[in-house]
Amino acid sequence: MEEKIRKVAVIGTGTLGTQIAVLAACYGYEVSAQDIDEEAFKKGVRNLMSLVKTSRREPIIPAKDWGKGPEKVKFYTQLEEALQDADLVIEAVPEDLELKRKTFEILDVLVPRGAILATNSSSIPISKIESATARPEQCLNTHFYSPAMGMNMVDIMGGTKTTPEVIETAKAWVRSIGCVPLTVKKEILGFCFNRVWRAIKRETLYMWAEGYVDFRDVDRAWMIFTGTPWGPFGLMDNVGLDVIYDIEMVYYNESKDAKDHPPEALKAMLERGELGVKSGKGFYTYPDPEYARPDFIKG
Ligand code: NAD
Repeated sequence: MEEKIRKVAVIGTGTLGTQIAVLAACYGYEVSAQDIDEEAFKKGVRNLMSLVKTSRREPIIPAKDWGKGPEKVKFYTQLEEALQDADLVIEAVPEDLELKRKTFEILDVLVPRGAILATNSSSIPISKIESATARPEQCLNTHFYSPAMGMNMVDIMGGTKTTPEVIETAKAWVRSIGCVPLTVKKEILGFCFNRVWRAIKRETLYMWAEGYVDFRDVDRAWMIFTGTPWGPFGLMDNVGLDVIYDIEMVYYNESKDAKDHPPEALKAMLERGELGVKSGKGFYTYPDPEYARPDFIKG
């Protein structure tokens, strides 16, 4: 356990908030969680358990432990109750700058002075949120990669005033819940690994959309090279092609470079309702995608 953090409060218990809350509870922290939707935590737990069951990786904690975690989380719809005595608050409400700023403004009033305020945002740097509070030195990004899918890493990025002590406390806390902190030393869109993954997406989507290669060969090559159970296209199907498109648009909107625009061919797939695993069809068809067959990598 990280000694400076005893109680963790998670705000927003959708996909990621639920996973973070349950993971922290499994590692022995006192955890409270809050959502405006009183069914959100239950839904989040159902989603989490199905991810744990279908994950192709070794889960970060055994499936039976994930199952015991939810009962240890105290869920509230009232923010004041959830925040009482919190040492670390992780905000995981939807990806909307104004909503996040408003949430931080309220947190700053309700959360004990010494507590750290973190956002799980995928694309908004804390530097755009911190000024909603009177404690920018205690604010930072802690970006989780779906731990229920076995991805035990968390990007840590400070804002303009975050103290080294807050960064170190966050890193130690992340380690204490079985995750690897990835420290971002200077603000950058995409943090550490998302930026790497994004470069792979941009290049492979381009090669496919311009007709240079069959996406299956890209995936085969990737699987042979890295030993992973799927390649970039299989992974994009799993994330959801609509989500991939939106994320690529975030990068494009930042750079306005035509090379960063997701290909029209990807948009056409969305218009046909081909969203990946969730719609049964993306680059592959589900529930029995070609890449899961033993002879797939032989070509
Ligand atoms: P989600 O839509 O599944 O969940 C958001 C939850 O926030 C919902 O349950 C909603 O009811 C609740 N909410 C909305 N307004 C609220 C408010 N004012 N107060 C309290 N709760 C409120 O979203 P998600 O996918 O879990 O994403 C949450 C955050 O985590 C986003 O910033 C996203 O970028 C980030 N993130 C998501 C993923 C992912 O794979 N889904 C991965 C990393 C980071």
